[in-house]
Amino acid sequence: MTHDVNLRIPGPTPLPDQVREAGSRQMVNHRGPEFRELISRVTGRLQAAFATRNEILIITASGTGGLEAAIVNFLSPGDPVLAVSIGSFGDRFAKIATAYGADVTKLDVEWGHAADPARVAQELRAMAGNGRPAKAVLLTHNETSTGVENPLAEISAAIHAAAPDALLLIDAISGLGAVPFDTDGWGLDVVATGSQKSWMSPPGLAMISVSERAWDAASRASMPRFYFDLARARKSLTTGETPWTPAVGVLFAMDVALEMLEQEGYEQVFARHAACAAAARAGLSGLGLRLFADPAHASQTVTAAWVPEDVEWSALNKQMRTHGLVIAGGQDRLSGQILRIGHLGSVESEDVVEAIQVMGDSMRELGHEVDVATAVGAARAAAQGVSTGGARRAPATAVSGA
Ligand SMILES: *Cc1c(COP(=O)(O)O)cnc(C)c1O
Repeated sequence: MTHDVNLRIPGPTPLPDQVREAGSRQMVNHRGPEFRELISRVTGRLQAAFATRNEILIITASGTGGLEAAIVNFLSPGDPVLAVSIGSFGDRFAKIATAYGADVTKLDVEWGHAADPARVAQELRAMAGNGRPAKAVLLTHNETSTGVENPLAEISAAIHAAAPDALLLIDAISGLGAVPFDTDGWGLDVVATGSQKSWMSPPGLAMISVSERAWDAASRASMPRFYFDLARARKSLTTGETPWTPAVGVLFAMDVALEMLEQEGYEQVFARHAACAAAARAGLSGLGLRLFADPAHASQTVTAAWVPEDVEWSALNKQMRTHGLVIAGGQDRLSGQILRIGHLGSVESEDVVEAIQVMGDSMRELGHEVDVATAVGAARAAAQGVSTGGARRAPATAVSGA
């Protein structure tokens, strides 16, 4: 896919033409039959993609609204909660819980690394030992600020063993849809994602799955909520509606995007993301950049690398923009120190190769000695290796396109 601007940030992502066209359709009554069909089709498609039989609620909000919903519907003020943070989005999830009065114990993992399942279990046992067993664990699937994917299957298993009653509340905003994911198999109670990340759709919708166990907790949870009241959303969905006016245009777009992903087949979607990630890692390394993430847990949707010591991020960023390449910098304390290439949603490995080419050219234009051709060759070869050899990790479940 070619775009005038190579937008390579970890969301919003470039939209396929069919998705853009769908987003510009004429409005329908959001309390009429067309909308009922639309929302039931979209939630069905999402259930397949989440690999869940749980209900999926679609709320009009960015991903952060999905995280807020995941907190306020299932917890009460004072509830002990373990927040596992491996970066700034993990910090944000913890802050939301704190803002609503949860008693948050934070497990901070050094940025660039994944959480260790045994360490998470140890913390949960310690909380129980202190007479404050965790009601919930907050966990990030794919930490976009550092380019690290947590081993969610292993961490979830460790949590279920150490604290069987704790709810698993998952920020899967930037990974779900791009990598193998098994909501029911991993026993995930609440999973939130956002339309503008892997889903080839515009920003504006958060999609949240809720387990029976979580609904049970919701009936007793007393945190204040109104707009993000998921029980209300659940009730409205029984008649094919949402409590408040939804972002109808984004739903039109996402319906088509989900259909495209199904037609491609999720196995192929995962392999495509793996190939893009391999290209990004090989290309950045080829340009002499040191990768930020622990290689054993490198993200398949966003790759972070240290900005070389003799390169100034703002100058490089400006130079890349003159060539139409837009990538992301570091967040919070990593601002100016790392750069991040997003490769999720509607992306082909050639888009990543082109980004490496432009980054290399820009570095040269700024007077840095880099072998751009070799880096580009390495990126292409790495992508090729993945697409002929299959995804780096085998899909955990059969998430078919059907
Ligand atoms: C993008 C992102 C968010 C925040 O989503 P918004 O749509 O910007 O509110 C939260 N968590 C992760 C992991 C993300 O990638």
